[in-house]
Amino acid sequence: MKQTRMTNQKLKIMEYLAKVKTHPTAEDVYRAIKKDLPQISLATVYRNLNLLAEQGKILKLEVNGEFRFDGDLCHHQHCVFRKCGKIIDVNQKEISDYAMSKIKTGEFKPQCVGIIFRGLCRNCA
Ligand SMILES: [Zn+2]
Repeated sequence: MKQTRMTNQKLKIMEYLAKVKTHPTAEDVYRAIKKDLPQISLATVYRNLNLLAEQGKILKLEVNGEFRFDGDLCHHQHCVFRKCGKIIDVNQKEISDYAMSKIKTGEFKPQCVGIIFRGLCRNCA
């Protein structure tokens, strides 16, 4: 049987990701949704996050060696603070549009682009 139905666990994960801007780790997601789903395990949260990312329903970002998750899919860019590990969203659609318009591909059809700027904040620099 194909498991494509949206489980309650996946829904809770999506709901949580949709309302936060912090780009949480799997552990952060686990801690947050455990309040509503006390039975859930960290392994289940990991599995669901990876499935949702594979299905293109959420974004999975690798930052400073750990995975962070984002419910906001396309057309925004990320600034990653190299020292403190903070991630902020930038909404400069023209940057993504420019990248999308310039990519030259044969058989590959790009659907969206993820752009990560890396740098330091004033406190870290
Ligand atoms: Zn984001």
